[in-house]
Amino acid sequence: MSRRTLALDDALYDYVLAHSLREHPQLAALREATRTHPHAGMQISPEQGQLMALLVKLIGARRTIEVGVFTGYSTLVVALALPADGQVLACDISDEYTRVGREFWERAGVAHKIRLVLAPAAATLDERIAAGDVGRYDFAFIDADKTGYDDYYERCLKLVRTGGLIAVDNTLWSGKVAQPSTDADTVALQRFNEKLHRDERIDLALLPLGDGFTLARKR
Ligand code: CA
Repeated sequence: MSRRTLALDDALYDYVLAHSLREHPQLAALREATRTHPHAGMQISPEQGQLMALLVKLIGARRTIEVGVFTGYSTLVVALALPADGQVLACDISDEYTRVGREFWERAGVAHKIRLVLAPAAATLDERIAAGDVGRYDFAFIDADKTGYDDYYERCLKLVRTGGLIAVDNTLWSGKVAQPSTDADTVALQRFNEKLHRDERIDLALLPLGDGFTLARKR
């Protein structure tokens, strides 16, 4: 028995996956295709993806935002969890990385739910705000450059409805956030975590899942 979160050794982590993971074949295939990628560590963990799919269904999300697509695993997770008329606004700047995912989105039959915009995410989100989409999204997932998190968060908080959810990846940053640091990414994440802790506009949970997974529900 533990009052704290369990530390997962390999055997227990394997048990968690073996006893809970229900990964769509195209998600498994995309994960395999990304495994040898030089930046494979940027992909979310599969159990984290499954939680995100459950959350998307729980809140009845139809319109979602993704900031940072990489090779499109989380995009596919959310697209599969959305209803037939659901939409992911997927923001990224890399054609090279996102191209990996696109064929798996097609094969999974959900490519029509994903609108990929290759441009700086802050500009894409500003366009949606200017277009009158404030409060018209249900869910946002932020997983991009860490020094941009606060900009993305503020924009997503505008675009998401009351009761909508913003999920943020890498908020524990391999544990580095708990140590003094001068590294720009670590400092950005430390400030971001401190800000959300005090942010009265949201309900908050910081889960020690994957590399740290923050959930912020808009009040
Ligand atoms: Ca990440």
